[in-house]
Amino acid sequence: MWAMSTQISPIPNEIDETDAAATIAWAHREFGNGLVLTASFEDPVLVHLVATHAPGVPIVLLDTQYLFAETRWLVENLQQRLKFPLEIIRPLDDVRPDDQWQFDVEGCCARRKVEPLNRALQGRSGWITGIRRVDGPTRADTPVVQYDEVRGLTKINPLVAWSDEDIESYIVNNDLPRNPLVERGYPSIGCWPCTRPVAAGEDKRAGRWSGQNKTECGLHVTTKLTTTSEGQS
Ligand code: SF4
Repeated sequence: MWAMSTQISPIPNEIDETDAAATIAWAHREFGNGLVLTASFEDPVLVHLVATHAPGVPIVLLDTQYLFAETRWLVENLQQRLKFPLEIIRPLDDVRPDDQWQFDVEGCCARRKVEPLNRALQGRSGWITGIRRVDGPTRADTPVVQYDEVRGLTKINPLVAWSDEDIESYIVNNDLPRNPLVERGYPSIGCWPCTRPVAAGEDKRAGRWSGQNKTECGLHVTTKLTTTSEGQS
């Protein structure tokens, strides 16, 4: 049984980091109603996996006020198709669309992403994310399961070992809709003011906060990682 404390717990032997469906099913058994997925809707894969292997688990969209229309389209398309419980979390009432992203991206992300995420995760014990190691250097060492001491919950990354080819095969095999921006050169999709298409050979996340000293929005800050397997030291 997964230990729900601030201690680092071993990753159960049953977890195969290449088997996303089994990882999600395990998380559903472990965390039950305490489980949630936050999705960027960059692609449809994790949403489809969770809706299939952990039916009823809420899927959270952080509506930053600056989502691409194409992303909103994919959210609606998938929700109508898969009928998952969608929770749209918005910034607090006093956060109005403004020009903060032009001069203070840290503050803008704090008000429009990090605070709403923390609210969405309150009372949860398991958090599924779409982090993959191939996303870029800042994610290259991410384990399949880790403990987020900042928020006090277990973080599950079922796609951590998936390649871009794995994602493509899953979309084709399940006849899933795509975010139209991907074919226009956006391999990583966030808010429209802070996302540009990337050139061939560029890092997948090079189009996020391009030209600024920022690579992560603060959603995935953790202080402890689970790195051992049961029976190992
Ligand atoms: S990605 Fe850009 S627009 Fe979106 S919350 Fe962060 S700074 Fe603001």
